[in-house]
Amino acid sequence: MKLLLHACCAWCLAKCLPGLALDGIQAADATVFWYNPNIHPLIEYRRRRKALRMLCERASLALADGHLAGEEREGYGLVAFCRAVHGRETVPERCAACYAMRMRRTAKAAKEGGFDAFTTTLLTSLQQNHALLKAAGEAAAEEFGVAFLYRDGRGNEADARLTKWLYKQSYCGCVFSEYDRYHATTKHLWPPPDGNSGPSPSGFPSLHRPFVAGCPDTSHKESTP
Ligand code: SF4
Repeated sequence: MKLLLHACCAWCLAKCLPGLALDGIQAADATVFWYNPNIHPLIEYRRRRKALRMLCERASLALADGHLAGEEREGYGLVAFCRAVHGRETVPERCAACYAMRMRRTAKAAKEGGFDAFTTTLLTSLQQNHALLKAAGEAAAEEFGVAFLYRDGRGNEADARLTKWLYKQSYCGCVFSEYDRYHATTKHLWPPPDGNSGPSPSGFPSLHRPFVAGCPDTSHKESTP
């Protein structure tokens, strides 16, 4: 079976590979498909895309970039994503729109590329809304006339050798999910010299270190929660 495999990130792709092997799908039969306008901001987008490229090299997988020429530079799809979720900014409506956007693009590419089926590495994630994802894949399959390979890969185990040293994200992807992940923490705020990280009387965290343009203060090391 010639399969177009939408990949959201390197780690989910690594988790997906054992499931493909069980289905008898070899690396040569699968083309990894990068189309994720939901990943923000730009540096995060670049990190995840680079990690995916590295994994594809390690696993000898072909990689295709699904972003259309002229769509947005580098395929960074902030504007397209914002348009897709406008008016549906809360979960689960936002995620349903996000899944539909990615599955429709993948199904279209699968049809145009003569693939037998398409699927997505998102099906391996414990963080995603599995039912909505399945529905989005099936709807896209019907719209474009190409099969959606549904497999629940949430119990798969990735080969740790494939993911060694690869960048791993800490939130789903969009700016909304980044807020959901970090809004309750103050870990990334600069602590004042006395170690008291509480808010200033004004209600805003006080900045005790002056910022000098072109000379970032590197004495404070951020810790990742
Ligand atoms: S939380 Fe994740 S799935 Fe939901 S809209 Fe944001 S990037 Fe997409």
